[in-house]
Amino acid sequence: MLPEPANCPLCGAAAERIRSSPLRGFKYTCPSCGSFAIESAALACLLAPASTRQDVVRMRAYGHLPLIQRDKQGVRVGPSRV
Ligand SMILES: [Zn+2]
Repeated sequence: MLPEPANCPLCGAAAERIRSSPLRGFKYTCPSCGSFAIESAALACLLAPASTRQDVVRMRAYGHLPLIQRDKQGVRVGPSRV
C-alpha cells in the first residue's frame, strides 16, 4: 500500500497517509505534527479540539505512536498498540 497525499486532519498541512487495517483507519505523516494514527470514525468527526494536536505531540514525546480515537466522550488520543 502506497502513501497518498492528504491534508493533515489536525493542522491542515500537506501530509501523507496510508491506510491501516489493524488501526481501522489511517496512519498520517505530517511535517509539523509528525506520525500519528487515526481511526476512520474519529477522522469523520474531526473538528478535533485544539488540544488533540498537543496530545499527539505529548504522546510522541513518550515514544508512542499516537492513536486518535472517538468514543462517547468525544475524540481522545492514546498510545497505539499496533
Ligand atoms: Zn499536522
